[in-house]
Amino acid sequence: MVMISKHVVNEKGHLLLGGIDSIELAKIYGTPLFVYDLSLIRERARAFINTFKQENVQAQVAYASKAFSSVAMYQVMKQENLSLDVVSAGELYTAIKAGFPVDRIHFHGNNKSKEELLLAIEHKIGCIVVDNFYEIELLKKLAKEHDQKVNILLRVTPGVEAHTHDYITTGQQDSKFGFDLLNGQADRAFHEVFRDEHIQLLGLHCHIGSQIFETIGFKVAAEKLIKKMIEWYNEEGFQCTVLNLGGGFGIKYTEEDSPLEPSVYVKEMVVVVKDLVSKTNFAMPEIWIEPGRSLVGDAGTSLYTVGSEKEIPDIRTYLAVDGGMSDNIRPALYGALYDAVIANKIGEKNTENYTIAGKCCESGDKLIEQISLPKADAGDILAMFCTGAYGYAMASNYNRLSRPAVVFVENGNHQLAVRRETLEDIVHLDLPLTLEKEGQ
Ligand SMILES: *Cc1c(COP(=O)(O)O)cnc(C)c1O
Repeated sequence: MVMISKHVVNEKGHLLLGGIDSIELAKIYGTPLFVYDLSLIRERARAFINTFKQENVQAQVAYASKAFSSVAMYQVMKQENLSLDVVSAGELYTAIKAGFPVDRIHFHGNNKSKEELLLAIEHKIGCIVVDNFYEIELLKKLAKEHDQKVNILLRVTPGVEAHTHDYITTGQQDSKFGFDLLNGQADRAFHEVFRDEHIQLLGLHCHIGSQIFETIGFKVAAEKLIKKMIEWYNEEGFQCTVLNLGGGFGIKYTEEDSPLEPSVYVKEMVVVVKDLVSKTNFAMPEIWIEPGRSLVGDAGTSLYTVGSEKEIPDIRTYLAVDGGMSDNIRPALYGALYDAVIANKIGEKNTENYTIAGKCCESGDKLIEQISLPKADAGDILAMFCTGAYGYAMASNYNRLSRPAVVFVENGNHQLAVRRETLEDIVHLDLPLTLEKEGQ
């Protein structure tokens, strides 16, 4: 085993993932294949949790599972004592199937259905993050009918929007999510719930963006939410016990990205909250965060088999792989950038410039617009890094492609976590035509 640039490589010049030859993984499980190195996920989870412990702050670190949801992944998160964010009946059902502790499940969404809320109430999940007035009414009614006291957070839009490298404060934030903090909606929501017999208001939630590399947005948001909670405490004597600052911690997709350590985000949030609280009688709330991408994003690598090549002289050379926008729509959807290597040619000189194309019938189905690689041949394995978040989770059967398999690796061991779809799976929802052709 040696390191070549930042990659761990064996004596054959093959990329290792979790201590295993990636070419062997491709042979055993086929391609396209998602490979998650669990050790990286555990390392991140522990970094978040341990920083809160060091700071002596009660906390929950909830995996925002829309980034990648499967039974086995939820079981990893359970092993690491994380909490879990779900956003649909489907994700909640997956969590229940995984045996995830229900008291640590939080339910998000801007348009939860009655059926979804009922499923949450029935399973007595830890918390429902209430998004709007419609949901307040619905939830009050359902909780009453089921004679239950339901824990909630109110999701607010604090008028802070964080982008990769900066943040903006807007007066009226244009967002479909949550109660506006500045125009009085949040106050109105508070008054509708804080005395309700069947609702236990825990506190406030916000989520200010994603792929964020700075702490300032989180600090400003923390300050706004804490100030609101202190205001309610002073006016009504109501003590909120939870401050949830959401997720959005950035990861390194390419050399352009410079993420912060998990501990940095946590420490800086904690300072702001402790400082504001210390000046009042308001008790220090628990701090909850919701990392998604930063837990699973760079733990995931996609393996593809190289197929056809098309050279257009003086323009570009397309190198096509056996997946594409059907297993990773992020490049097509919002121009996301990725880095890749030819996993069986690590250490060879990058002599070629390629555009990595998918196999879907869309011109826009490109995985990487421009990348330097060694000369590629059909049958080579392309490893695309950092595909663990919003890759498989957004996969589709476009063109009736089978969704890939997902494999977990760790310290030289591997297991299938999601099996590849078969051709039978592809037609399993289809029913034959039964309506008669007219005139027969
Ligand atoms: C998507 C989302 C997250 C996670 O965002 P990441 O960028 O993946 O960390 C957290 N909280 C909420 C409410 C979200 O919608």
